[in-house]
Amino acid sequence: MNGKNIVSSKYVETDAVCFEAVNPATGKILAGDFRKASFSSANAALAAAEIAFQSYRLINKDLKSAFLRCIADQIYAISDKLIARASEESGLPVMRLQGELGRTTGQLRLFADMVDEGSWVDAIIDTAIPERQPLPKSDIRRMLVPLGPVVVFGASNFPLAFSVAGGDTVSALAAGCPVIVKAHAAHLGTSALVGEAIVNAIHQCGIPKGVFSLLYDDGYDIGSYLVQHPKTKAVTFTGSFNGGMALVKLAGQRSQPIPVFAEMGSINPVILLPEAIQTKPEELAKKCAVSITMGAGQFCTNPGLLIAVQSAELDVFTKALAKAISETPSATMLTAGIHANYQRLSTEILAEHGLTLLAESAIIEEKFQHQSIARVVTVSAKQFLKTEKLQQEIFGPYSLLVIAEHTTQIEEIIEFLDGQLTITLMTADKELATYPDLLNKISDKAGRIILNGMPTGVEVCSAMQHGGPYPATNDSRFTSVGTQAIYRFARPVAWQDWEHSLLPDALKDGNPLGINRLVNQKWTQE
Ligand code: NAP
Repeated sequence: MNGKNIVSSKYVETDAVCFEAVNPATGKILAGDFRKASFSSANAALAAAEIAFQSYRLINKDLKSAFLRCIADQIYAISDKLIARASEESGLPVMRLQGELGRTTGQLRLFADMVDEGSWVDAIIDTAIPERQPLPKSDIRRMLVPLGPVVVFGASNFPLAFSVAGGDTVSALAAGCPVIVKAHAAHLGTSALVGEAIVNAIHQCGIPKGVFSLLYDDGYDIGSYLVQHPKTKAVTFTGSFNGGMALVKLAGQRSQPIPVFAEMGSINPVILLPEAIQTKPEELAKKCAVSITMGAGQFCTNPGLLIAVQSAELDVFTKALAKAISETPSATMLTAGIHANYQRLSTEILAEHGLTLLAESAIIEEKFQHQSIARVVTVSAKQFLKTEKLQQEIFGPYSLLVIAEHTTQIEEIIEFLDGQLTITLMTADKELATYPDLLNKISDKAGRIILNGMPTGVEVCSAMQHGGPYPATNDSRFTSVGTQAIYRFARPVAWQDWEHSLLPDALKDGNPLGINRLVNQKWTQE
């Protein structure tokens, strides 16, 4: 296990201070001495990225897409080793990681297809009208260009799909931006293996070496330094609200502010309308329990809030939910810190006025540490509406069931909610018609609104929106999952009255790239 920092696709020999990776289930130290990156390595990574940007932004789309596919192939080639290490480091089961590896390689290939197709650059051409009176109209052509070096913070809860070669990295590379990854301390060896795969792809495809660097740290020094570095042009982050906002503030203090795209979590309310509960209370309860406890609840889209109206059927629902939760096997959480946080918050919250513990699970695997205890708690809508604190994300297998006295309180609760990644509506046929304002209200509060499905599970596709109003993210205009994530790393430039041969291919007459363009107000490939 090579734990050296990677700067400009080369292993750094000089960084001295080491730290180790730990198996969260057993506490066993895992193979590999990981070097805390020095500030000079961070400087070198950004200097190389700045130089590489000048050539990488211009490479043709066939080479760029081949590079992304090559990273996918390199990762696939080490699947077994990678999954074994990721499982040891994260406590996540092998099957879950197999799925995540497929998602990671799949998203690399999806972005490669997008690059091949090419229309994402959003080319717009307004040709000149020299004879226009009283003034001639210039020839103006606009398209998106990459921002420059992007700093990516790996997320703890997706060691593959949201880490070194995850959605942030691939969307930045696809846009034409070099990437400097700050590895997450929770999966150092996994990061090292994926880093090596990217370096191999860089060598194999002849990509400028400064396009990729990977730095380790067991604290905040290097991450903070990278965010404040003048050569950094954008930052991506998935994790806690405090971590995300700390980076947003650091970036705001720079003499040249830059965008930080922080996905900071959400409690993903699930609204169980009365007819849905009446029709299938037990089935719904089981679905909720599975979604709350899946992956020890460590998903950004975990349903941390259930909202329902009191009724006899709701009693059936709560009994079935309590049973399913109490029977849920415990699982190792990602890190000691995440486990301690979860235990503390899910215990402390019970001291809040009006909360009742509906059910909790028991520790099954006594021999392993940092095991999750699933908890579901209930509160009246009246009390919920008085207690802002009940909206905090408790990252883990926890959910709060808010019980309304009547249906009118549902809209009140939605108005009270903070911004969310998702809001789900569980409803029966035609029931929605009796809530005319509900749809607008939930779409004002969330990035993805779901009908009769659970929020956990985020499809990687072009239509996906994984982002939402603050505090779910700090910029609800963008997504961090799916191909549209590329738009975080590009900005528009307009070329006015340029000689044709000097224009980028995407803006040339004759459309040499064969992409979709808006030409004189008409979408065309001509
Ligand atoms: P985190 O503490 O937010 O850390 C994420 C990454 O950001 C890590 O690389 C961390 O560095 C870095 N970081 C955090 N605060 C920073 C700061 N002030 N300055 C510079 N760098 C900083 O998230 P985590 O370690 O993954 O988990 C902790 C908590 O985050 C969880 O208990 C949960 O509440 C939340 N979380 C939420 C989501 C979500 O999607 N909603 C996902 C994961 C975690 P180090 O690696 O050195 O600590």
